[in-house]
Amino acid sequence: MSKLALLGGPKAVQTPPGDIFTWPIITKEDEEAVLEVLRGGKMSGTDITKQFEKEFAEWQGVKYALAHNNGTSALLGAMYGCGVGVGDEIICPSVTYWASAAPVYDLGGTVVFADIDPKSLCIDPKDIEHRITKRTKAIVVVHYLGHPADMDPIMEIANRHGIKVIEDVSHAQGGLYKGRKLGTIGHVGAMSLMSGKSFAIGEAGMLVTNDREIYERAVALGHYERYHESEIETEYLKPYAGLPLGGYKNRIHQMSSAVGRVQLKYYDERCAEIRKAMNYFWDLLEGVPGLEAHRTPPHDPNTNMAGWYAARGIYHPEELGGLSVGRFAAAVRAEGAPCGAGANKPLHLHPLFNTADVYGHGKPTRIANSDRDLRQPKGSLPVSENSPNTLYSIPWFKKFYPQIIEEYAMAFRKVAENYKDLLPGDKKDDSNLGGYHFYQHSS
Ligand SMILES: *Cc1c(COP(=O)(O)O)cnc(C)c1O
Repeated sequence: MSKLALLGGPKAVQTPPGDIFTWPIITKEDEEAVLEVLRGGKMSGTDITKQFEKEFAEWQGVKYALAHNNGTSALLGAMYGCGVGVGDEIICPSVTYWASAAPVYDLGGTVVFADIDPKSLCIDPKDIEHRITKRTKAIVVVHYLGHPADMDPIMEIANRHGIKVIEDVSHAQGGLYKGRKLGTIGHVGAMSLMSGKSFAIGEAGMLVTNDREIYERAVALGHYERYHESEIETEYLKPYAGLPLGGYKNRIHQMSSAVGRVQLKYYDERCAEIRKAMNYFWDLLEGVPGLEAHRTPPHDPNTNMAGWYAARGIYHPEELGGLSVGRFAAAVRAEGAPCGAGANKPLHLHPLFNTADVYGHGKPTRIANSDRDLRQPKGSLPVSENSPNTLYSIPWFKKFYPQIIEEYAMAFRKVAENYKDLLPGDKKDDSNLGGYHFYQHSS
């Protein structure tokens, strides 16, 4: 009999996890902050939001932070801030959450997808420049699953072409690239702070920038309550003050701002503990065939994985006799460890970016908002398309409890080392791995 739990052996994970996965960490202080909003009758005021923005801007090291009701609207604001409009194109990685790209439709623009780098899983800097046209207004960079994208070559390309860079920091709040805070390297950063992310405060988003015009355009689009002629410096925005140009109302809920102020105080130290735990997990799996860590060099103080959102490993089936990632993940789950195959499915193959006529143009929105058919068929972005077969989720530890982490690491090691026992029952049904989002709605 095999010692694998899937085949009847004992589970590798025996110890109850306790609070090792509990997130976000909510204390009395968060509760008090929310109660204060409730009791103070300030549920729609902006004072607490302005305080949160001030503290967030200081933490990021930027001049302006504009809180939003979610990350999607922060991204919309960032795109509008960068001047994206009718007929314009953005370049965005195909493997990401839809909100990195889809809001561009609202602005009358469209998207060209780029492939990802197989190690960082972020946009491949070598796959950007040949996609730039005279309509390209911005490159959206996603620091995917906490890994910083390689910003230097991206900024060099963007600056050479006079294009803006939007950093989608939804997976990597507080992370570092070469000593610089993610979100502050491009022209504007936008991020989700919703409850599933590593910076988790309910439903919320944040836009950060040093560029006054980008900030004011985002204000003008969807924050009428800040859009006062006396406060706006950008001349062409002054005549319309008072009403939101986009017809949106994108401000954050005050209770999220209250929680955000408390979470911000402890966020860096909590992320440092996450990184210690996650790096320990990968250290334990060093050299195990088939399993490659998705991480930055663990001892480099200038680059890190932020809060290690939705952590995954890179899978090499060729080192495990061709064992499918689906079967691998099922065997790890049987050992008592969370593990799912795939990550975000590539967006360029979804019907929203191929056939959907969202606004009644009489043709797919993707091409209606352009002067050419820029759809990208199957086979056009090979690394993105293969990614569901090469990624698997790993436990997202929030606490450094070495003994528990060792058991979880053992689950992965045990399955990889006994892969031969799993080959006979492998149906290799890897046709539908991953999903378009990670958030599990509780039923
Ligand atoms: C979650 C997420 C968003 C959208 O944020 P919401 O707050 O859910 O609107 C945008 N981009 C990425 C990469 C995300 O993961």
